Amino acid sequence: MDNTTLIDGKAVAAQLRRDIAAQVEVRLAAGKPRPGLAVVLVGEDPASKVYVGSKVKACEEVGFLSQNFRLEVSTSQQELLALIDRLNADPQIHGILVQLPLPKQIDVQAVIERIDPKKDVDGFHPYNLGRLAGKAPTLRPCTPYGCMRLLKAYGIDPMGKKAVVVGASNIVGRPVALELLMERATVTICHSKTQDLPGELAQADIVIAAVGIPQFIKGEWLKPGAVVIDVGINRLDSGKLVGDVDFASAADKASAITPVPGGVGPMTIACLLQNTLEACAALEA
Ligand code: NDP
Repeated sequence: MDNTTLIDGKAVAAQLRRDIAAQVEVRLAAGKPRPGLAVVLVGEDPASKVYVGSKVKACEEVGFLSQNFRLEVSTSQQELLALIDRLNADPQIHGILVQLPLPKQIDVQAVIERIDPKKDVDGFHPYNLGRLAGKAPTLRPCTPYGCMRLLKAYGIDPMGKKAVVVGASNIVGRPVALELLMERATVTICHSKTQDLPGELAQADIVIAAVGIPQFIKGEWLKPGAVVIDVGINRLDSGKLVGDVDFASAADKASAITPVPGGVGPMTIACLLQNTLEACAALEA
């Protein structure tokens, strides 16, 4: 651990938030409106409530307008789509975030596709994902964008490196692989059917862990000197938050590693703010 760099996502995110707040001040001084973010939560999922609370607070701290919509767990798909239509048409709102997961009566994909791609600050709309796949990103998924900004902040250039992404979800694994490919890493995506995960990881210069299993990736699987970005957020029965990487053993092997908490998590929220600011500017253009 002595020679391992601890990648401080809290500090990088705080700097990004300060930059965003300064840009809001410049907008206001020029007589322009505040960027506006609508945050929609359906139901009572405790983790979602915490995430939504953090997003709203971060919004207010940088001087954005934030509008919160708390809908009953029994909300129908039609009601949610009608709200999205209203927000799409609202000139005060530049970003729309519908917190996932959604109750089972609601078709998530239909909701994602109903959001105006120009207001899709989560970057999940097929238009925005397609732009990322085509190396011409517009609004980019926040967690992958946050991982890339962390690498950049620490001078880690993925070009020519072998990157292994563990996890292939639509919100993290797939888009982060596209981000790394755009930066010209050689990218492997692993998932639950991957045959030899330790064998894949043994070759990785950069590891992105997004599995959802606490402390799953062991230090002994890593290549010495690997850079490890741990996206996982898991709460143990003891109440402690841990990542998808076994931090103690991985930190002994890695050249740089993110902690949990204080790594990718704060970057996700800061990138949501960045996306809202970018969406606001693009809608005005
Ligand atoms: P998902 O459950 O949607 O996806 C998990 C992925 O891991 C799937 O692709 C799955 O494979 C794969 N996987 C499951 N088991 C294994 C295994 N044994 N070996 C290899 N791969 C496996 O999770 P998310 O992507 O939504 O989230 C991942 C983690 O990141 C979670 O801990 C979540 O809490 C956290 N998270 C953190 C965020 C942040 O801001 N820091 C934001 C979003 C998520 P398959 O495709 O075959 O099912």
